[in-house]
Amino acid sequence: MKIKCPKCKDVAELSPDFAFVRCEHCNLDISYGDYVKFVAHNDITYSDILGDYIPSTEGQTHGTLDEWD
Ligand SMILES: [Zn+2]
Repeated sequence: MKIKCPKCKDVAELSPDFAFVRCEHCNLDISYGDYVKFVAHNDITYSDILGDYIPSTEGQTHGTLDEWD
């Protein structure tokens, strides 16, 4: 699958079995474990890469009290 390269910010390829990450743009070739560490170490937000981990805080304060009547 396509992911963002943590090194050059271009498109890298994650192997289907999550074994390794390769980027043909900057010749990145590392294991997925190292990729995660690379991302964390460089403080690139996880949500920026994984996309679906941004918590939504909207709509949580409406409509709950009325249901107790
Ligand atoms: Zn790259």
